[in-house]
Amino acid sequence: MDHSKAFRIMQQADKLAEFTSMQGGLTRTYLSAQHKQAHQQLANWMTSAGLTTWQDSVGNQWGRKAASNLDAPILILGSHSDTVADAGKYDGNLGVLLAISALEQLQDVEFPFHIDVVAFADEEGTRFDTTLIGSSAVAGIFDPRWLAIEDGEQISMAQAMQTFGLDPQQAGKDRLACEKVLAYLEVHIEQGPVLEAADRAVGVVTGIAGAKRYQLSVKGMAGHAGTVPIGMRADAMCGAAQMTSAIEAYAKQHNLVATVGKCDVVSGSVNVIPGEVNFTLDIRSLEQDSLEKACDDLLTELSVIAEQRGLTFAHQLFYQAQAVPCSERLQQAWGDVVAKVTDKSVTFLPSGAGHDALAMAHLTEVGMLFVRCEKGISHHPLESVMQEDVAVALECTKQMLLAQLRAYGDQSDQ
Ligand SMILES: [Zn+2]
Repeated sequence: MDHSKAFRIMQQADKLAEFTSMQGGLTRTYLSAQHKQAHQQLANWMTSAGLTTWQDSVGNQWGRKAASNLDAPILILGSHSDTVADAGKYDGNLGVLLAISALEQLQDVEFPFHIDVVAFADEEGTRFDTTLIGSSAVAGIFDPRWLAIEDGEQISMAQAMQTFGLDPQQAGKDRLACEKVLAYLEVHIEQGPVLEAADRAVGVVTGIAGAKRYQLSVKGMAGHAGTVPIGMRADAMCGAAQMTSAIEAYAKQHNLVATVGKCDVVSGSVNVIPGEVNFTLDIRSLEQDSLEKACDDLLTELSVIAEQRGLTFAHQLFYQAQAVPCSERLQQAWGDVVAKVTDKSVTFLPSGAGHDALAMAHLTEVGMLFVRCEKGISHHPLESVMQEDVAVALECTKQMLLAQLRAYGDQSDQ
């Protein structure tokens, strides 16, 4: 294991964290000035690693280890370079740095396919009200209507692209063709506690959970907190609370995750019976069928609760992502590599968080490796990984590329 290379990656992660718009913390949003600087830095590191660099129509930063045959297919390896507000240093960035470092070490090995490292420019969706902009453009599912979406300062995505040096008219037009791409590989921090509990540095991802998000609304009757008897109320907050408990109970019973993360009592006041409550539901499952069924079951159950309490209930779906299984072939390849590098049994685990692989699955088969992070904390300045684990992840990435080289050779021999 090469600890000096892992040490350098840790240093590079620290360096990238300096490109931030937040005083005393890390916030790097899509198409910001700091984002441009971070990409320049990444391009410099890519060049030092022997890669040819370019930026695509939506600002993704690429670096290529080219095959001698210019028409050769492409293996894509990467993650994202944007962050949430007040973020940690490793979410996304670690996967990009590992990819560059692995290719730097493989400079002298000739591959019959191109290997492209990508830093996707938007995964988190922090600035504009949509996520996975970078990978969607590559995978051919960029929606031109997104260009009109405005950020918190009323700057449209199209304007922000211009400031960044891009032509919004071209956004997504350089999508890749399915037949050109061999696979998409990504290394990412786990963002959960499973690997730490299993005492493993890395783990193989089985798939990315599908998700649905609803805006829910409960309406009752506002009234005086002192004069309306407790049995004669239509209290929207009590209804929402019962619904939240029902959501938790359902998730526990059915082995999925569901969260009420936002709750707003409309014109809430200490001495007024809540007349209207708006809240959200985020629900995820690795199985698309169980996700669909859970949503149907839950919405019915919540309507019944509303009816029993004399409340009206409304729901609106505002986001959904299909569950994406990782390719069996790539899971097995990662598994073989992890077993060889770590000499331990391999942990396979699902991803509850969304990743660029969700969009890239529209283009090609996807394979992901997770790296243990301390206490599963992410999207937070306390996000932390161990240098020893980074060394393991780096060796696995390198070995995975070599395994793909061998598999490609076997395929073309037949
Ligand atoms: Zn991420």
